[in-house]
Amino acid sequence: MKILINPPREQWDEILERPAARSNATEETVSRMLTSLRESGWDEVCRMTAELDGYLPEPPLIPEDEMKAAGNQLPESLKQSIILAANNIRKFHESQVRDANLVNISQGITCYQKWVPVERVGLYIPGGTAPLFSTVLMLAIPAQIAGCKELILCSPGNRQGLINPAILYAAAWCGITRVYRIGGVQAIAAMAYGLGPLPKVDKIFGPGNAWVTMAKQLIGRAGVAIDMPAGPSELLVVADDSANPAFVAADMLSQAEHGVDSQVLLLTTSWELAEQVHNEIELQLHKLPRKDIATKALEYSKIIVLSDDSSIMEMVNRYAPEHLILATENYRQLAEQVKHAGSVFLGNYSPESAGDYASGTNHTLPTSGYAKAYSGLTLDSFMKSITFQELTSGGLQSIERAISLMARAEGLEGHANAAEIRRQEDGKTVETDDHPSHDHLSRIEEEKGSMHHIMDYLNPLNLLYPLNILDPESQLNPLNLLNRFVPEEPQIPLSKPSPIDLIRRNIAELVPYSSARDEFTGRQGIFLNANENPNETGLNRYPDPRQTELRELVARLKGVEPESIFLGNGSDEAIDLLIRIFCEPRMSRIITINPTYGMYTVCAGIQDVEVDMVLLNHDFSVNTKSILEAVRFDTKMIFLCSPNNPTGNQIPLNEIRYLANRFNGIIVVDEAYIDFAEGPSAMSLIDECPDIIVLQTFSKAWGLAGVRLGMAFAHPVIIGTLNKVKYPYNVNVLTAATVQGIVKEVKDVRIGPDVRLILTERIRLADRLKELAGVEKVYPSDANFLLVKFTDAKAIYKYLADNSIIVRDRSNQALCEGCLRITVGTPAENDKLINALLITDNR
Ligand code: PMP
Repeated sequence: MKILINPPREQWDEILERPAARSNATEETVSRMLTSLRESGWDEVCRMTAELDGYLPEPPLIPEDEMKAAGNQLPESLKQSIILAANNIRKFHESQVRDANLVNISQGITCYQKWVPVERVGLYIPGGTAPLFSTVLMLAIPAQIAGCKELILCSPGNRQGLINPAILYAAAWCGITRVYRIGGVQAIAAMAYGLGPLPKVDKIFGPGNAWVTMAKQLIGRAGVAIDMPAGPSELLVVADDSANPAFVAADMLSQAEHGVDSQVLLLTTSWELAEQVHNEIELQLHKLPRKDIATKALEYSKIIVLSDDSSIMEMVNRYAPEHLILATENYRQLAEQVKHAGSVFLGNYSPESAGDYASGTNHTLPTSGYAKAYSGLTLDSFMKSITFQELTSGGLQSIERAISLMARAEGLEGHANAAEIRRQEDGKTVETDDHPSHDHLSRIEEEKGSMHHIMDYLNPLNLLYPLNILDPESQLNPLNLLNRFVPEEPQIPLSKPSPIDLIRRNIAELVPYSSARDEFTGRQGIFLNANENPNETGLNRYPDPRQTELRELVARLKGVEPESIFLGNGSDEAIDLLIRIFCEPRMSRIITINPTYGMYTVCAGIQDVEVDMVLLNHDFSVNTKSILEAVRFDTKMIFLCSPNNPTGNQIPLNEIRYLANRFNGIIVVDEAYIDFAEGPSAMSLIDECPDIIVLQTFSKAWGLAGVRLGMAFAHPVIIGTLNKVKYPYNVNVLTAATVQGIVKEVKDVRIGPDVRLILTERIRLADRLKELAGVEKVYPSDANFLLVKFTDAKAIYKYLADNSIIVRDRSNQALCEGCLRITVGTPAENDKLINALLITDNR
């Protein structure tokens, strides 16, 4: 690699010349290919694919099961990396969402600009020597945030027509369902003209070889836009003595290995550094698997020593690099002077590969000096703006003279007339108001709101917390461990958002109703503020909306702060409110295990939120791997029921933690039956994972199902939000008084309700049931019920009901064929049940 010392400015253009693209992809050949593809259609796509790529694209669309199976072929650590990168990319691109800008130009003239998505976009992902699955994320995520309606992806298959599984996995993770196994000029033509099963798209994105790039440039004539002209990759590093020569060399090689026509430049004021980097490149080059490519690329690469920073920055701006690394002590000052570059990396710890994969910025950037006029890919690339204006009669009058004078000066009489005719007619118009109609303005405000919804839809969700507790005690039931996916510890330090980032924006911004009791909290006085009946009955006053006393009592009972407790009308209220807080109707999804408590799905349905149900393993343990695979970009919550209704098993804490550390949304752990379980509560995880919400209830172990009091324990931000959206008086006076009375009777609040009898009865009932011939299996239970598999569940159910013993038929639920769920009753009730079953057994 050449080292140039202080070259004179006249030579700069020549020195900075890019290597000519080495390809025989001439405009003429590609143009001929496009014509024949347009004229002969899909048959020609197949013919060319067979001839050039060696396979027939059949079926052209990758089937759903192939998409789903792709993840199985990848190591877990790679999948986690893809998800981490995806979340960062999403976070950065979401910040680019813009509101419509309403401008009152002058009285009676209102203009605004609205951003709308490009409807149909085609993404091209090269296969070849480097399957760029990272590019799938870089293209699909902003397209999804923009709200593009149809996303189709084309990528070339190998000789068997198979697409690299990482490309399929990334596509599926981004919610792309239409992936076609075609590449090259054929793919560009198929997307541009709408050939065969492919729809004609409005804009094509993505890198490709010289043939693809040429085809993209030529299809402009078919009315299809492209992202940007793309050329070979390039990197310019500016470094001084503070830089680490090994880092600089590694960065330069990371770019050189891209392709033989890639270019890397180092500009420095330090002779010494120039020498050191030169030597380091020699050392590191030989270790690279793609050293042949890199060696060729280095032929066009240079180290240039210049006398001062200002010359360096002048050269940087003249070259307009795709990637620019500023590895100098004063990089902030230099950054201020950057006028032309695609993406800039600041300091010694910002390698270009961070931006290529995982830091969040887009890696699709202008090359070949286009950075002088083009930006890299952003959310805007997937959107276009439309301007709107509304003039009142007064508004038009205020500029009418200017319009007609200018129009006439351009010789356009019709234009002048269109303005003037309105004044002449004005006597007849009804519009005299000098402001655009209220309705219209509120519509514009609504539109602005819908951009917020897009933000909510793809809320930035990526953060994680150190994991340092593993509770082996939670793995109580050996049966639960059978066939279980054993979680590995995360290898990647992820980062998570604060719960506040997960809350729907309109909810976060909501001003809650302020009740009379909220405004004045004193207890003494004459209360004439809440329109209550003044005649004292003990119930004539509204309850305390903040439930201060009750919350303090529950806080003592549970050993947590009152700020971490929400109290509601059963835990069902919390389930409903939580879905409303975190899920956007028609845009968000939740995951539940299957089978489980039905209210999660019902509450989601009310909110128009889709539910993805993930089947439990056959031993009812949770398949954490399948849960994570079901997570999509729009998945906001996972509901875990532990102990689970109706299967009765508790989910070990390490599995909940495992999910919490990988899922960038809310995990609700419904512990309605926790007081009957041996294992610990997930409440201990909340401090560590603030996105975990634990639900408990007074309905089960406390014997208070009739009073309706449920609890949610979570980060104070979540609890504050629950309290903001609840009805002001959701816990009534009688409920509060009853619970306070009963809890105060408990000798040691830390022990909680006395469930000993239920637990001994659970064991006795299970043992007795197991003796019955009609019973196939009694599942282990950590709850106050037993799931029992009968040889003929329907008949048993009916027989018991005829004998006034009512159990729950769960035989239609997944994995519960032949199962009835039987609540543990009093000893006498359980005896009656057993006796009734003994009679059927003997028949
Ligand atoms: N969660 C689960 C798992 C349940 O089984 C139930 C009720 N059967 C609830 C929550 C609702 O409890 P609450 O009475 O507190 O609304």
